[in-house]
Amino acid sequence: MKIVKGFRDILPYGNNPSDTSPYWSLIVENLRKVMSVYNFSEIITPVIEYTHVFERGMGLDTDIHKQMYDFVLEREPHNRGEGDSEGDIRSYCLRPEGTAAIVRSFIENSLYKLKKINKLFYLGPMFRYERMQKGRYRMFHQVGIEVLGSEGTYHEVETLNLAKDILDKLEIKNYVFQINTIGDTESLKNISVAIKKFTAKHRETLSNADQEILSVNPLRFLDKAIHKYNFDNIPKTIDYVSNKSLNRFKELIEILDSLNFKYNINHQLVRGIDYYNDLVFEVASKDLGAQDTILAGGRYDNLVKRMGGPDTKAIGFAAGIERIILLMDKQKSSSVQLSNLEEIDFYIAYQDPNFLNYSFKIANQLRRSNFKVEIEYDSKSFVKQMKTANKLSCRYVVIIGNEEFNNSLVRVKKMSTGEERVINLDSKFMDVLLNEILTP
Ligand code: ATP
Ligand code: MG
Repeated sequence: MKIVKGFRDILPYGNNPSDTSPYWSLIVENLRKVMSVYNFSEIITPVIEYTHVFERGMGLDTDIHKQMYDFVLEREPHNRGEGDSEGDIRSYCLRPEGTAAIVRSFIENSLYKLKKINKLFYLGPMFRYERMQKGRYRMFHQVGIEVLGSEGTYHEVETLNLAKDILDKLEIKNYVFQINTIGDTESLKNISVAIKKFTAKHRETLSNADQEILSVNPLRFLDKAIHKYNFDNIPKTIDYVSNKSLNRFKELIEILDSLNFKYNINHQLVRGIDYYNDLVFEVASKDLGAQDTILAGGRYDNLVKRMGGPDTKAIGFAAGIERIILLMDKQKSSSVQLSNLEEIDFYIAYQDPNFLNYSFKIANQLRRSNFKVEIEYDSKSFVKQMKTANKLSCRYVVIIGNEEFNNSLVRVKKMSTGEERVINLDSKFMDVLLNEILTP
């Protein structure tokens, strides 16, 4: 039997540490730490939503919409039918991204009544029916934030800094923040017209596929295709934005400069989803190869309203965890150390199978005091147990021989020095162990 194509197992252990769950957990722990210092709260939404949540949220012309794992559940009897504003409730999809689902939850649970500004983060699997390549999977994980109810420019500043702190916390290097302003809906229309006009002059050089993209959505052409051609004087979004957007962008740049925040301005940067306005940004690293974007986001002031909620300005980003790990591997980031995780505190070795119950009680006590303990139950010889203890790189071995068993004693051997101590297994056992043996 085989795993579904494009999906991956995260293994309990293995030769490649970055495919393992301890590594994964450490990364997630680090991500949560950054979220916590910025006082962001986690939101956990289902992996399945009604398809219309994303159709309304992202727009139909987007790559992501074309990549959705959507299906109609035939056994679901209630079909409100096409044309209903709530959409077909038999039509489900595995979520392809986080934002639309979180906005759905934000509206449905009236989170705006609980807080004026909702600083939310999420972590979890996303699903897209993609052409698979390195760094491009059909199930992948994103960590992201959404700041709902965010108006002032410092929300942009905070969002960018949080993104940077995540990368720095994981000791990722050689990344570049690219930022741009795309203005409002009106400016986007004007930019689209400008791109159409511009590309009309180069029609014969464009591939058929790109001409098709261009005719459907010129912004997607700018996002996905224009870099393939060596055109000069490509239209810049900044020439089409309102004064208000322009000033907002200038203000942001000034603040970023004052903070010594490094960025590149790219006035051809637009995002692949429809809901963005003003600030858009991406973080890429040349160390990643073809799929070089690790994190992307922007402001989306109209989405909440479009999805049926109150007028709520918002900003957010999402980062791909698998791509972050690829980069950490490549750059040999040492921020995530597995060695401590694998270390065992106590291995309990007993000389006679009849001592198992006595030994198990000791294991219980140690485990309940938060020590990591290993003990065998399948009657391995004492010699084999000691061999295992050595192989496991444990800090201490508890040895239960005849003498210990008969006199309620515990022999503790420190593996690094070979030093041994014998203590009574009585009510003071844990105290003596903690105070005299573990912290001499
Ligand atoms: P791309 O241009 O790589 O297709 P995108 O614009 O579709 O990216 P977003 O929807 O903005 O990506 O998602 C944000 C991040 O999620 C990406 O920067 C990337 O790190 C990660 N990501 C997106 N799609 C995948 C995928 N299929 N496999 C792994 N990671 C992904
Ligand atoms: Mg994509």
